[in-house]
Amino acid sequence: MSGFEGSYMGNAGKISPKAIMECKICWTVYDPAIGDDTRSVLPGTPFTQLPDDWSCPNCDAPAEQFLVQSDPGSDALLEAAILNRRTAALVTDFTEVWHAKMRDVPIVNKVLHVQAVGFRMHEGRPLGVLISPWFMNLVMLHGEEEDWSGLQAGEKENIAFPSGVYEFIHNTREQTGGYKACSLFSPMGEFKTQAQAVDVAKAVMVALFDEENVAETDRAAEIRSMREEEVAAKAAAELEEETVPELVAAPTRRQVLTAGLAAEAE
Ligand code: FE
Repeated sequence: MSGFEGSYMGNAGKISPKAIMECKICWTVYDPAIGDDTRSVLPGTPFTQLPDDWSCPNCDAPAEQFLVQSDPGSDALLEAAILNRRTAALVTDFTEVWHAKMRDVPIVNKVLHVQAVGFRMHEGRPLGVLISPWFMNLVMLHGEEEDWSGLQAGEKENIAFPSGVYEFIHNTREQTGGYKACSLFSPMGEFKTQAQAVDVAKAVMVALFDEENVAETDRAAEIRSMREEEVAAKAAAELEEETVPELVAAPTRRQVLTAGLAAEAE
């Protein structure tokens, strides 16, 4: 038996809806997939949703006397707990920046507040969108066993997703530690409400993992590399002119995620 099994003690927050429970007195099993015929409890009823007066069908021990036999949903529960803790630290960090440094900066959008949206585990690392009154970024945090404290602020890294490759910039904050951020919007003037920003953030998370976007990003990369060759072939004086469209082309991949979304929401 693991520590987890003994630690239920009637605390519904510690077991998932899929948890299979066992009476610690007579070993009778409650499986949510089966329910409990003797008390007219339908199949699909989680242990935590049993009637308050439910007791062991065999020995009448109260529900609190049941232990976790196995919990197929515990990984998801653990993951949710990690995501909650890590995004809370992220939000705390940027809320502090907001109050300490940004509140009186003219470009900020005061209808917005710091919020973490759509965070999920991606290859063991929390990934989601951070909304603030002055930016919206795609943010990747380090995995639980990873140490990103050595990340150099400002260093760039290309990270691949199903929809393409995106440029992230390294940074660190007190509670968050090292993190990687890909800029989506800055400033945030075009958003009229927090809800509108949240909708766009959710859409970004969908677009990021949508392989259908990949053709467009590849095309953008192709155009860029062609232009780079062109630029390399030209004289130094002409090169200066050519870097202008180069810079304009740079955010194209990012636009795949956000194109039209903010405008559409308006
Ligand atoms: Fe029992």
